[in-house]
Amino acid sequence: MEYYSKQISDLIAELSKLPGIGEKSAQRLAFHILHMNKDDVHALSNALVNARDNVRYCKECFTLTDTDLCPICSNPKRNHKQIMVVEDSRDMAAYEKTQKYEGVYHVLQGAISPMQGIGPNDIRLKELMKRLEGDVDEVIIATNSSLEGETTAMYISRLIKPTGIKCTRIASGVPVGGDLEYIDEVTLLRALEGRTQI
Ligand code: ZN
Repeated sequence: MEYYSKQISDLIAELSKLPGIGEKSAQRLAFHILHMNKDDVHALSNALVNARDNVRYCKECFTLTDTDLCPICSNPKRNHKQIMVVEDSRDMAAYEKTQKYEGVYHVLQGAISPMQGIGPNDIRLKELMKRLEGDVDEVIIATNSSLEGETTAMYISRLIKPTGIKCTRIASGVPVGGDLEYIDEVTLLRALEGRTQI
């Protein structure tokens, strides 16, 4: 990219490191940014740096947050005895959008995938089992209905069985291989209401 000056080339190179951004898109974004109002560019850059510097895992549910406890875990109005297990923070956001779920979450930050070498110790399972030593009425497993999601659900249900805690799986209204975050709220709600004990 010698035809661009160094700072423009650097900007394009950094943008092209993002997922799904090829060189053409990176150039398009770079020139868009260069034509943006300076204040907006500063706001974007600050948001990137602040989020990266301050965001960490909630010490209770392991979602990404910028406080010790995320807003859901620190909300006394939520039912802390009902825990919905999801794969990542985006799945949690999808359920939050329905505004019908009143329990709390546990974010695994992944799913078991023997193909990709991701085992039970690579996701936040131990942390889930630790939470279950407290006062919990129900664990709702809402992992995706992909092979990895189903494997993870089965693994978790086997771990929970000996504890005697009620363990349910969301209904299969969610299409196989479907990522929860892309599914509409009605389908999500139906899947939640139709959950069955496992
Ligand atoms: Zn939390």
